[in-house]
Amino acid sequence: MADTGIAATYHAPQTPFELREYPVPDPQAGAAVINISIANICGSDLHYWRGDIDIKKMGRPTPMALGHEGTGTIARLGSGVSTDTLGNKLAEGDRVVFQYFYPCMQCPTCLKGHTYACPVRQADRATSSDEWPHFKGTFAEYYYLQPNHAMFKVPDSLTDDEVAGINCALSQVISGLDRADLAFGETVTIQGAGGLGVYAAGVAKMRGASRVIAIDGVDERLELIKDFGADDVIDIREYETPESRVNAVRDLTNGLGTDVTLELVGHPGVVREGLDMTAQGGRYLEIGNINVGWDTQFDPSVIVFKSISMIGIAHYRAEDLKNALDFLIESKGRLPFDRVLSHQFPLSKIDEAMEQQNAGHITRAALIPGS
Ligand SMILES: [Zn+2]
Ligand SMILES: [Zn+2]
Repeated sequence: MADTGIAATYHAPQTPFELREYPVPDPQAGAAVINISIANICGSDLHYWRGDIDIKKMGRPTPMALGHEGTGTIARLGSGVSTDTLGNKLAEGDRVVFQYFYPCMQCPTCLKGHTYACPVRQADRATSSDEWPHFKGTFAEYYYLQPNHAMFKVPDSLTDDEVAGINCALSQVISGLDRADLAFGETVTIQGAGGLGVYAAGVAKMRGASRVIAIDGVDERLELIKDFGADDVIDIREYETPESRVNAVRDLTNGLGTDVTLELVGHPGVVREGLDMTAQGGRYLEIGNINVGWDTQFDPSVIVFKSISMIGIAHYRAEDLKNALDFLIESKGRLPFDRVLSHQFPLSKIDEAMEQQNAGHITRAALIPGS
């Protein structure tokens, strides 16, 4: 293994990334170093790139590591790490998926079982890329897996392309639908047919949803989500107003609205219509709105009188990552996982990849370090 590696570092919104060379760290006890094979551009990375997220407010210094969705192989194991989270033996070169945040497992939040909400789970990103261990994001040749990580060995039956979306998009929607307790025969609306949306359609059908409705305005995305199991699509180019979209969902659900609605657009303006699409006693999963300080107005009596539960999903549990891997193994050949990644770019072309995905015609672009 090389002594140094390249990381694409973020400096400011819509400013070119800088490729910096850092020494590959020696993992401390309980940690590991991953050699990144493929790293996807997730919607949240785009929010940073566009400047939607105020990184100063979040206490994130620059140069900042970016990227979290991806997969790779074991480069180095720290002392005490010889297996994955399930006890499977690990050796250098083994392919793995990993949780990219680190619940401490000792704080009051973790002890209550809410490990996905541990307040220090992303403490590693509070220091700049120039500080050890340097490799804190997946837009790099290496990634430093902190102690307290979860990681699972990937079987040879899955390609890197198929696996790349597991540790954010797929685990996130699996966790969300589990926490929303989506039951057999219930109905679902998905606001936004990007990477998370298409996976959500597949997972909802697998859980027995009787009807999955997807809302988006890009042909490729609408086509793909149908192939992932969406029964109906609502094209926002035809249904231009929130009222028309709410009525369309109600028309498709005997006037009731859907039992579970997922917000995967990432804009506060869609929350009100999402709640209006949700049935009495339904659940509204808020996943996309990660822009701190972006405000919206809605009438809270909608939640009260319809007894709607709103559930915020920032991260997932280790078991969700394991379930995501199993879901992928079981659904391979039935769902078009190979089409979720629409484009690949070498890491050096990260600016071009960001721009193109931002234009909306790429479901998910992937970066290939070392190419
Ligand atoms: Zn993500
Ligand atoms: Zn904790």
